[in-house]
Amino acid sequence: MEKCQQSEAACPHVLVLPLPIQGHVNSMFKLAELLALSGFKVTFLNSEHNHERLVKYTNITAHFARYPGFEFKTIPDGLPDDHPRTGEWFLEMFDAMEMKTKSSLIEMLLNISPPVDCIIGDGFLGFALDAANELGIPIIYFRTSSACCFWVYYSIPDMIQAGELPTREMDRLITTVPGMETFLRCRDLPSFCRASNMTDADSKIQLIVKETRKTPQAHSLILNTFEDLDGPILSHIRTKCPHIYAIGPIHAQLNTRLREKYGESYDHFSNSLWELDRSCISWLDKQPKQCVIYVSFGSVTTTSREQLTELWYGLVNSKKRFLWVIRPNSVTGKDGRGGDVPVELLEATRERGYIVGWAPQEEVLNHPAVGGFLTHSGWNSTLESVVAGVPMICWPYFADQQVNSRFVSEAWKIGLDMKDVCDRKVVEMMVNDLMVNRKEEFVKPAAKMAKLANESVSVGGSSYCNLDRLIEDIRLMSLKKL
Ligand code: UDP
Repeated sequence: MEKCQQSEAACPHVLVLPLPIQGHVNSMFKLAELLALSGFKVTFLNSEHNHERLVKYTNITAHFARYPGFEFKTIPDGLPDDHPRTGEWFLEMFDAMEMKTKSSLIEMLLNISPPVDCIIGDGFLGFALDAANELGIPIIYFRTSSACCFWVYYSIPDMIQAGELPTREMDRLITTVPGMETFLRCRDLPSFCRASNMTDADSKIQLIVKETRKTPQAHSLILNTFEDLDGPILSHIRTKCPHIYAIGPIHAQLNTRLREKYGESYDHFSNSLWELDRSCISWLDKQPKQCVIYVSFGSVTTTSREQLTELWYGLVNSKKRFLWVIRPNSVTGKDGRGGDVPVELLEATRERGYIVGWAPQEEVLNHPAVGGFLTHSGWNSTLESVVAGVPMICWPYFADQQVNSRFVSEAWKIGLDMKDVCDRKVVEMMVNDLMVNRKEEFVKPAAKMAKLANESVSVGGSSYCNLDRLIEDIRLMSLKKL
């Protein structure tokens, strides 16, 4: 059991507030556990909706009981219970949260004991910054999505001023994002930039720009990345936000610290909002080395029936083995997994495929049978693949994913970008290129990046040292209050 051995003053109380979607909750939980491991008192503020699901599908309560200073509290996310919470729903939530959640947060902060020394708030939740400022509590932003996309969002006003936005010429190079002049096309901008209305204050992109440009007002900024992956972009971000802690890949950092504390017997905590189907691990155990392509599009993406069919034919026609996560209710149109599926697809899937509703993804990516990942390029998924050294085919859906997939293919050279295409022939070709024809081209850089990722979170590595610095700085904040 963790015990705060130090005096109250050296044992700061941190409130952690994620944007209530799976990817954000994942990284925030990992950070919260890292802080609890270093003896901090942590209050984790979940949305009521997510907390109920976590209690239902995970061992959340038992897992965090080992940290006596760890406490859960809940607040409403402002949406009705039966809201589907898929696709671009989270943008609706900004307004709802701003209205309903901010006042609950202030009330909680006024009454909580011991008082909070520092808030770690999701970098999208500007109302948390306003609340912290009103109460004089230091706030550190954690931007859980990619650093490269943060920098693109930050540069949007410059793009608009230069006349590069809005635009419909998808293959034209964007020249006003420092550090990306040679490879960032219009097509690679965050999905919200595709709107024709960029300047209307109500547009999604203006909302995101507004939240992003608030970042320098926070005490500092935590990013889930590491110097060897994102060094040049981090240098650019530092010109606006000088105090950055690059502590990622955070899931690997947590594994390192748990191993240090408990040896190899540490338990992995699944913070999934869906029920895990572990049968896919037994299926993977029976497959040859590096022969399976893992397919998953994260927690928010939806696919149409037509897209599902194209992907399915592409996978089947590639003749490769595949493990595919099709989340319940993620297929739009009639009937969850997609109505009448052609018999040939079902037969081929029985032969060399396996489909689950939700997989233990980190474990899957580290399984010896997995040789490639067809992903939506969500930031957690991308980093999990980087750490496991698994090359990717990127089929981005929205938000930062369009930028991430460009970095995967053009900056880091660890995969292919299938952006804006969903055609069975292309899927088949890319799967064969990644897994066979051009395998060597991707395997070596992916292995090299995995090594660098793992070194960054090992003792003395850049992310390891940055986390130590973050912990020390929060301690100093709590001492200053005395
Ligand atoms: N994930 C998982 N099982 C699945 C699919 C996804 O555990 O079957 C996890 C995955 O490991 C990642 C998160 O869900 O940590 C998805 O986050 P990401 O940032 O990649 O995408 P988002 O869901 O936010 O679009």
